[in-house]
Amino acid sequence: MCRVTAPSSRERRAGDACPGVSRPFVAVDGSIVRLRPAGQPVRIEVLSDLMDVIAGQQDPAIQLTSRGALQLRGLPDPLTPRIRDAIRATGLVPSATHELVRNIVASPLSGLDGAGHCDLRPVTRALDAALRTDPDLSRLGGRFLLVLDDGRGDVVGESFDLGLFATGPARCVVLAGGIDRGWEVPLAAAVPRLVALARQFVQAASGDESVWHVSELAVPLGPEPTAELDLPRQPERPLGAVGDHAVVAVPLGLLRPDHVAALAGVTDRVLVTPWRSLVIEKAAAALPELEAAGLVTHAGSPWTRLHACTGLPGCARSALDTRALARDLAPVLPGGHLPVHVSGCERRCGTPATAYVDVVAPRSAEQALSTIAEQESSWT
Ligand code: SF4
Repeated sequence: MCRVTAPSSRERRAGDACPGVSRPFVAVDGSIVRLRPAGQPVRIEVLSDLMDVIAGQQDPAIQLTSRGALQLRGLPDPLTPRIRDAIRATGLVPSATHELVRNIVASPLSGLDGAGHCDLRPVTRALDAALRTDPDLSRLGGRFLLVLDDGRGDVVGESFDLGLFATGPARCVVLAGGIDRGWEVPLAAAVPRLVALARQFVQAASGDESVWHVSELAVPLGPEPTAELDLPRQPERPLGAVGDHAVVAVPLGLLRPDHVAALAGVTDRVLVTPWRSLVIEKAAAALPELEAAGLVTHAGSPWTRLHACTGLPGCARSALDTRALARDLAPVLPGGHLPVHVSGCERRCGTPATAYVDVVAPRSAEQALSTIAEQESSWT
């Protein structure tokens, strides 16, 4: 039931198609553009401006991705100059040359709740700036991922290329290609070390288009690893009040205009997590308003475990509107402990990396319910 799919050799031959405003991906419902906040907060004004870009669509929504990025789809192909300019005016594409490589995921509550060893927000900003100003690193590729974990263990479990794991207030282990290859360094030295490793990767992978990730290099990056990590158990994903702060999940990862309007009433910025939720500083008292707008504030909601691939109308492979089916399922979803993923076809895009209930191309909500009951019972 748990399936993690590597890109097929055909996909590799087709190359890295991760979209951006400089290189939209064209799907059956139009162009897709992905915008990368690089682990940093996004102003609500920016979300409103993006909503204006897609305001003419039938069901406008900003998609949140599993790397904490924002995605617009259903845009014209090619993008009109007006749309391109409107997207660039948001400031979410601070470098035309490095747009696709700013893939940074950092512990979303770092510096806010005191749970990690340190506040990684300055490190995140410094890493983004260092990536953007190194001309060679524009060749990293859209699939290359950097993770910064403040020691709580929430993002180091992602499938990453380079990263750091804080081991104290001023120390960390820099990682390359996984958690078993690392070097302990002062936190202040982590960004230069990550940049040096990224440059080394670019050189080592140069000329071989089949290498997208550090783990795929014939010769491992860096010297012999010197650090062994003692990882904590992966913490529960936060939801609701975290001290004074709020974390809200976004059903199906689709941020709608009414969500943005409600957010505008309580904050001027949010941080997008890799789990399709938002961290909102000092907003714990506003959780009732956010919940009234359809954002998820408590673990009992079916939306904490119900997911769907793109499906129709965005994906030609699908025989059904997977998200409409998920919306039909939500009010009747029985209790259970596993995530439920509705896929429109056997490719199962976006499935969780952990065990999950696998609902593929159901003919109806009733059939989906019976699949869920059958698979849940086999796990109990
Ligand atoms: S799982 Fe199939 S239907 Fe769903 S988005 Fe992927 S290719 Fe399309």
